[in-house]
Amino acid sequence: AGWLFFLKDITESEATHPALCNRQRLLEQALDGAIQRRELALHYQPIVDANRAVLGMEALVRWQHAGLGLISPGDFMPIAERNGKIVGIGQWIMQTACAQLAAWQRAPHSRHWQLSVNISAREIYEPTFFEVLQDTITASGVDPAGLKLELTETLPLSSPDQVLQRQLRNLVDQGVQLVLDDYGTGCTSLNYVKHLPVSWLKIDRSFVDGVLDNSRDQKIIAAILALADSLDIRVVAEGVETLEQFDYLHRAGCHAFQGYLFGRPLPADRLTDRGDANQLASSVLPGNYRVPA
Ligand code: C2E
Ligand code: MG
Ligand code: MG
Ligand code: MG
Repeated sequence: AGWLFFLKDITESEATHPALCNRQRLLEQALDGAIQRRELALHYQPIVDANRAVLGMEALVRWQHAGLGLISPGDFMPIAERNGKIVGIGQWIMQTACAQLAAWQRAPHSRHWQLSVNISAREIYEPTFFEVLQDTITASGVDPAGLKLELTETLPLSSPDQVLQRQLRNLVDQGVQLVLDDYGTGCTSLNYVKHLPVSWLKIDRSFVDGVLDNSRDQKIIAAILALADSLDIRVVAEGVETLEQFDYLHRAGCHAFQGYLFGRPLPADRLTDRGDANQLASSVLPGNYRVPA
Protein backbone atom coordinates (compact mmCIF):
# COMPACT_ATOMS: atom_id res chain seq x y z
CA ALA A 1 0.00 0.00 0.00
CA GLY A 2 2.91 2.30 -0.79
CA TRP A 3 0.76 4.77 -2.66
CA LEU A 4 -1.47 5.21 0.39
CA PHE A 5 1.48 6.44 2.39
CA PHE A 6 2.33 8.71 -0.48
CA LEU A 7 -1.16 10.21 -0.37
CA LYS A 8 -0.90 10.63 3.36
CA ASP A 9 2.42 12.42 2.92
CA ILE A 10 0.90 14.92 0.54
CA THR A 11 -2.05 15.60 2.83
CA GLU A 12 0.24 16.05 5.79
CA SER A 13 2.56 18.41 3.96
CA GLU A 14 -0.44 20.53 2.92
CA ALA A 15 -1.53 20.69 6.53
CA THR A 16 1.89 21.29 8.03
CA HIS A 17 3.13 23.75 5.39
CA PRO A 18 0.26 26.16 4.79
CA ALA A 19 2.78 28.85 3.82
CA LEU A 20 3.95 26.69 0.94
CA CYS A 21 0.40 26.29 -0.36
CA ASN A 22 -0.23 30.00 0.00
CA ARG A 23 2.86 30.72 -2.03
CA GLN A 24 1.65 28.33 -4.75
CA ARG A 25 -1.70 30.10 -4.85
CA LEU A 26 -0.02 33.51 -4.84
CA LEU A 27 2.27 32.51 -7.73
CA GLU A 28 -0.64 31.08 -9.66
CA GLN A 29 -2.58 34.35 -9.37
CA ALA A 30 0.43 36.52 -10.11
CA LEU A 31 1.19 34.50 -13.23
CA ASP A 32 -2.05 35.88 -14.67
CA GLY A 33 -1.04 38.65 -17.04
CA ALA A 34 2.69 38.24 -16.42
CA ILE A 35 3.35 38.38 -20.17
CA GLN A 36 1.24 41.52 -20.63
CA ARG A 37 3.03 43.18 -17.73
CA ARG A 38 6.33 42.25 -19.44
CA GLU A 39 7.58 40.37 -16.40
CA LEU A 40 8.98 37.41 -18.34
CA ALA A 41 12.43 37.48 -19.88
CA LEU A 42 14.73 35.01 -21.58
CA HIS A 43 18.29 34.54 -20.43
CA TYR A 44 20.84 32.74 -22.54
CA GLN A 45 23.52 30.30 -21.41
CA PRO A 46 26.38 29.34 -23.71
CA ILE A 47 27.03 25.81 -24.98
CA VAL A 48 30.65 25.35 -26.03
CA ASP A 49 32.77 22.77 -27.80
CA ALA A 50 35.99 21.22 -26.51
CA ASN A 51 37.93 24.29 -27.71
CA ARG A 52 35.61 26.56 -25.76
CA ALA A 53 34.17 27.99 -28.97
CA VAL A 54 30.54 29.01 -28.54
CA LEU A 55 28.26 26.62 -30.44
CA GLY A 56 25.14 28.36 -29.31
CA MET A 57 22.92 29.21 -26.40
CA GLU A 58 20.11 27.71 -24.38
CA ALA A 59 17.15 29.99 -23.71
CA LEU A 60 16.06 29.87 -20.06
CA VAL A 61 12.96 31.74 -18.97
CA ARG A 62 12.97 34.13 -15.98
CA TRP A 63 10.07 35.73 -14.17
CA GLN A 64 10.66 39.04 -12.43
CA HIS A 65 7.67 39.96 -10.28
CA ALA A 66 7.44 43.37 -8.61
CA GLY A 67 6.45 42.04 -5.20
CA LEU A 68 7.63 38.43 -5.27
CA GLY A 69 11.07 39.06 -6.76
CA LEU A 70 12.86 36.80 -9.24
CA ILE A 71 11.08 33.47 -9.57
CA SER A 72 12.89 30.54 -11.16
CA PRO A 73 11.30 28.39 -13.88
CA GLY A 74 11.51 25.36 -11.61
CA ASP A 75 9.04 27.15 -9.33
CA PHE A 76 6.54 28.55 -11.82
CA MET A 77 6.67 26.32 -14.91
CA PRO A 78 5.12 23.34 -13.06
CA ILE A 79 2.26 25.63 -11.97
CA ALA A 80 1.86 26.90 -15.53
CA GLU A 81 1.82 23.30 -16.76
CA ARG A 82 -0.91 22.36 -14.32
CA ASN A 83 -3.22 25.27 -15.12
CA GLY A 84 -2.51 25.39 -18.85
CA LYS A 85 -0.85 28.85 -18.85
CA ILE A 86 2.23 27.10 -20.21
CA VAL A 87 0.68 27.24 -23.68
CA GLY A 88 0.64 31.05 -23.85
CA ILE A 89 3.96 31.30 -22.02
CA GLY A 90 5.52 28.76 -24.36
CA GLN A 91 4.34 30.72 -27.40
CA TRP A 92 5.83 33.91 -25.97
CA ILE A 93 9.10 32.06 -25.29
CA MET A 94 9.25 30.68 -28.84
CA GLN A 95 8.50 34.08 -30.40
CA THR A 96 11.11 35.82 -28.26
CA ALA A 97 13.67 33.08 -28.88
CA CYS A 98 13.12 33.08 -32.66
CA ALA A 99 13.40 36.89 -32.81
CA GLN A 100 16.70 36.65 -30.89
CA LEU A 101 17.99 33.83 -33.09
CA ALA A 102 17.11 35.80 -36.22
CA ALA A 103 19.11 38.75 -34.86
CA TRP A 104 22.08 36.49 -34.06
CA GLN A 105 21.91 34.94 -37.53
CA ARG A 106 22.23 38.44 -39.03
CA ALA A 107 25.40 39.29 -37.04
CA PRO A 108 28.76 37.94 -38.29
CA HIS A 109 30.08 36.69 -34.93
CA SER A 110 26.92 34.74 -34.07
CA ARG A 111 25.78 33.64 -37.52
CA HIS A 112 26.25 29.94 -36.76
CA TRP A 113 25.00 29.90 -33.20
CA GLN A 114 22.26 27.46 -32.45
CA LEU A 115 19.53 28.32 -30.01
CA SER A 116 18.05 25.61 -27.79
CA VAL A 117 14.50 26.11 -26.58
CA ASN A 118 12.99 23.93 -23.84
CA ILE A 119 9.62 22.42 -24.64
CA SER A 120 7.53 20.74 -21.97
CA ALA A 121 5.29 17.76 -22.58
CA ARG A 122 2.18 19.79 -21.92
CA GLU A 123 3.16 22.21 -24.72
CA ILE A 124 3.97 19.63 -27.34
CA TYR A 125 0.68 17.80 -26.86
CA GLU A 126 -1.30 21.01 -27.40
CA PRO A 127 -3.13 20.43 -30.71
CA THR A 128 -1.94 23.74 -32.20
CA PHE A 129 1.70 23.45 -31.07
CA PHE A 130 3.29 22.55 -34.41
CA GLU A 131 1.14 24.95 -36.43
CA VAL A 132 2.00 27.85 -34.12
CA LEU A 133 5.69 26.89 -34.13
CA GLN A 134 5.73 26.79 -37.94
CA ASP A 135 4.09 30.23 -38.09
CA THR A 136 6.61 31.60 -35.59
CA ILE A 137 9.54 30.24 -37.60
CA THR A 138 8.15 31.75 -40.80
CA ALA A 139 7.24 35.13 -39.29
CA SER A 140 10.63 35.55 -37.57
CA GLY A 141 12.57 34.72 -40.71
CA VAL A 142 15.01 32.43 -38.86
CA ASP A 143 16.92 29.71 -40.61
CA PRO A 144 15.35 26.70 -38.83
CA ALA A 145 18.74 24.95 -38.92
CA GLY A 146 19.70 27.21 -36.02
CA LEU A 147 16.90 25.97 -33.82
CA LYS A 148 17.10 23.11 -31.33
CA LEU A 149 14.18 21.79 -29.33
CA GLU A 150 15.05 20.37 -25.90
CA LEU A 151 12.52 17.73 -24.97
CA THR A 152 12.47 16.29 -21.48
CA GLU A 153 12.04 12.60 -21.07
CA THR A 154 8.95 13.09 -18.96
CA LEU A 155 6.62 13.10 -21.95
CA PRO A 156 3.64 11.11 -20.68
CA LEU A 157 3.46 8.28 -23.20
CA SER A 158 5.68 5.24 -23.00
CA SER A 159 6.64 5.89 -26.60
CA PRO A 160 5.86 8.86 -28.83
CA ASP A 161 2.80 8.31 -31.00
CA GLN A 162 2.76 8.33 -34.80
CA VAL A 163 1.31 11.83 -35.16
CA LEU A 164 3.92 13.34 -32.86
CA GLN A 165 6.67 11.45 -34.68
CA ARG A 166 5.50 12.74 -38.05
CA GLN A 167 5.29 16.33 -36.84
CA LEU A 168 8.75 16.19 -35.31
CA ARG A 169 10.17 14.62 -38.48
CA ASN A 170 8.69 17.46 -40.48
CA LEU A 171 10.66 19.93 -38.34
CA VAL A 172 13.82 17.86 -38.57
CA ASP A 173 13.46 17.86 -42.37
CA GLN A 174 13.66 21.66 -42.16
CA GLY A 175 16.92 21.45 -40.20
CA VAL A 176 15.59 21.74 -36.65
CA GLN A 177 17.54 19.53 -34.21
CA LEU A 178 16.02 17.52 -31.38
CA VAL A 179 17.76 17.22 -28.02
CA LEU A 180 16.70 14.84 -25.25
CA ASP A 181 17.17 16.94 -22.11
CA ASP A 182 17.98 15.65 -18.62
CA TYR A 183 19.01 12.41 -20.26
CA GLY A 184 19.18 9.42 -17.97
CA THR A 185 16.66 10.66 -15.41
CA GLY A 186 13.46 9.50 -17.17
CA CYS A 187 12.30 5.99 -17.74
CA THR A 188 11.38 6.29 -21.42
CA SER A 189 14.87 7.18 -22.66
CA LEU A 190 15.35 4.30 -25.03
CA ASN A 191 11.89 4.54 -26.58
CA TYR A 192 12.52 8.16 -27.43
CA VAL A 193 15.93 7.42 -28.88
CA LYS A 194 14.37 4.61 -30.89
CA HIS A 195 11.40 6.52 -32.28
CA LEU A 196 12.52 10.13 -32.65
CA PRO A 197 15.14 11.59 -35.01
CA VAL A 198 17.24 12.86 -32.13
CA SER A 199 20.56 14.68 -32.80
CA TRP A 200 21.70 15.22 -29.22
CA LEU A 201 21.45 13.66 -25.77
CA LYS A 202 21.96 16.08 -22.90
CA ILE A 203 23.43 14.30 -19.89
CA ASP A 204 21.62 15.42 -16.77
CA ARG A 205 23.47 17.55 -14.24
CA SER A 206 22.87 14.95 -11.54
CA PHE A 207 25.35 12.62 -13.29
CA VAL A 208 27.84 15.41 -14.00
CA ASP A 209 27.82 16.40 -10.32
CA GLY A 210 29.33 13.10 -9.24
CA VAL A 211 31.46 12.40 -12.25
CA LEU A 212 34.81 12.76 -10.46
CA ASP A 213 34.24 10.46 -7.52
CA ASN A 214 31.13 8.37 -8.13
CA SER A 215 31.89 5.29 -10.20
CA ARG A 216 28.18 4.68 -10.88
CA ASP A 217 27.87 8.13 -12.45
CA GLN A 218 31.00 7.41 -14.47
CA LYS A 219 29.56 4.14 -15.75
CA ILE A 220 26.20 5.69 -16.60
CA ILE A 221 27.92 8.45 -18.56
CA ALA A 222 30.06 5.89 -20.37
CA ALA A 223 26.91 3.92 -21.26
CA ILE A 224 25.14 7.03 -22.58
CA LEU A 225 28.20 7.91 -24.68
CA ALA A 226 28.44 4.37 -26.08
CA LEU A 227 24.74 4.36 -26.98
CA ALA A 228 24.99 7.78 -28.61
CA ASP A 229 28.13 6.84 -30.51
CA SER A 230 26.58 3.72 -31.99
CA LEU A 231 23.51 5.69 -33.11
CA ASP A 232 25.47 8.67 -34.43
CA ILE A 233 23.99 10.99 -31.82
CA ARG A 234 26.05 13.72 -30.15
CA VAL A 235 26.26 14.25 -26.41
CA VAL A 236 26.22 17.50 -24.46
CA ALA A 237 26.91 17.63 -20.72
CA GLU A 238 25.00 20.12 -18.57
CA GLY A 239 25.94 21.60 -15.22
CA VAL A 240 29.72 21.56 -15.76
CA GLU A 241 31.09 23.68 -12.93
CA THR A 242 34.75 22.76 -12.63
CA LEU A 243 37.71 22.32 -14.93
CA GLU A 244 38.18 18.80 -13.57
CA GLN A 245 34.63 17.83 -14.53
CA PHE A 246 35.15 19.31 -17.99
CA ASP A 247 38.44 17.45 -18.35
CA TYR A 248 36.83 14.14 -17.43
CA LEU A 249 33.84 14.62 -19.73
CA HIS A 250 36.04 15.79 -22.60
CA ARG A 251 38.26 12.73 -22.29
CA ALA A 252 35.21 10.49 -21.99
CA GLY A 253 34.05 11.76 -25.37
CA CYS A 254 31.35 14.40 -24.81
CA HIS A 255 30.96 16.73 -27.78
CA ALA A 256 29.63 19.85 -26.10
CA PHE A 257 29.53 21.38 -22.63
CA GLN A 258 27.36 23.76 -20.69
CA GLY A 259 27.58 25.05 -17.15
CA TYR A 260 28.73 27.79 -14.84
CA LEU A 261 32.37 27.04 -15.76
CA PHE A 262 31.67 28.54 -19.18
CA GLY A 263 29.00 31.06 -18.36
CA ARG A 264 25.81 31.64 -16.45
CA PRO A 265 22.52 32.44 -18.14
CA LEU A 266 22.48 36.17 -19.05
CA PRO A 267 20.18 38.58 -20.88
CA ALA A 268 21.05 38.76 -24.59
CA ASP A 269 22.32 42.36 -24.44
CA ARG A 270 24.91 41.34 -21.89
CA LEU A 271 26.21 38.63 -24.23
CA THR A 272 26.34 40.49 -27.52
CA ASP A 273 27.40 44.02 -26.67
CA ARG A 274 31.01 42.92 -26.40
CA GLY A 275 31.82 42.58 -30.08
CA ASP A 276 33.30 39.63 -31.85
CA ALA A 277 33.20 35.94 -31.11
CA ASN A 278 36.62 35.76 -29.46
CA GLN A 279 35.81 38.59 -27.13
CA LEU A 280 32.52 36.94 -26.38
CA ALA A 281 34.18 33.62 -25.67
CA SER A 282 36.65 35.19 -23.27
CA SER A 283 33.96 37.25 -21.62
CA VAL A 284 31.74 34.31 -20.85
CA LEU A 285 34.60 31.96 -20.05
CA PRO A 286 37.06 32.20 -17.19
CA GLY A 287 40.23 33.97 -18.32
CA ASN A 288 42.55 31.28 -17.00
CA TYR A 289 40.74 28.56 -18.85
CA ARG A 290 42.79 26.25 -21.09
CA VAL A 291 41.76 23.19 -23.00
CA PRO A 292 43.59 20.22 -21.47
CA ALA A 293 46.03 18.55 -23.85
P1 C2E B 1 17.08 22.49 -17.91
O1 C2E B 1 16.55 22.71 -19.28
O2 C2E B 1 17.70 21.17 -17.65
O3 C2E B 1 18.10 23.69 -17.68
C1 C2E B 1 19.27 23.61 -16.95
C2 C2E B 1 19.15 24.31 -15.62
O4 C2E B 1 20.40 24.20 -14.94
C3 C2E B 1 18.89 25.81 -15.71
O5 C2E B 1 18.13 26.18 -14.55
C4 C2E B 1 20.29 26.40 -15.63
O6 C2E B 1 20.31 27.76 -15.19
C5 C2E B 1 20.93 25.48 -14.63
N1 C2E B 1 22.38 25.40 -14.78
C6 C2E B 1 23.11 25.59 -15.89
N2 C2E B 1 24.43 25.39 -15.65
C7 C2E B 1 24.52 25.07 -14.33
C8 C2E B 1 25.64 24.75 -13.48
O7 C2E B 1 26.80 24.71 -13.89
N3 C2E B 1 25.34 24.45 -12.18
C9 C2E B 1 24.06 24.46 -11.70
N4 C2E B 1 23.88 24.18 -10.41
N5 C2E B 1 23.00 24.77 -12.48
C10 C2E B 1 23.22 25.06 -13.79
P2 C2E B 1 16.86 27.10 -14.68
O8 C2E B 1 17.12 28.22 -15.64
O9 C2E B 1 16.42 27.43 -13.30
O10 C2E B 1 15.78 26.14 -15.36
C11 C2E B 1 15.29 24.99 -14.71
C12 C2E B 1 14.42 24.17 -15.60
O11 C2E B 1 13.23 24.89 -15.94
C13 C2E B 1 15.07 23.82 -16.93
O12 C2E B 1 15.91 22.71 -16.80
C14 C2E B 1 13.84 23.53 -17.79
O13 C2E B 1 13.39 22.22 -17.57
C15 C2E B 1 12.83 24.52 -17.25
N6 C2E B 1 12.83 25.69 -18.13
C16 C2E B 1 13.64 26.78 -18.14
N7 C2E B 1 13.33 27.61 -19.14
C17 C2E B 1 12.30 27.05 -19.80
C18 C2E B 1 11.52 27.41 -20.97
O14 C2E B 1 11.76 28.45 -21.61
N8 C2E B 1 10.51 26.56 -21.34
C19 C2E B 1 10.24 25.38 -20.67
N9 C2E B 1 9.25 24.60 -21.09
N10 C2E B 1 10.97 25.01 -19.59
C20 C2E B 1 11.98 25.83 -19.16
MG1 MG C 1 17.20 22.35 -21.15
MG1 MG D 1 18.70 19.84 -18.83
MG1 MG E 1 17.83 19.70 -15.94
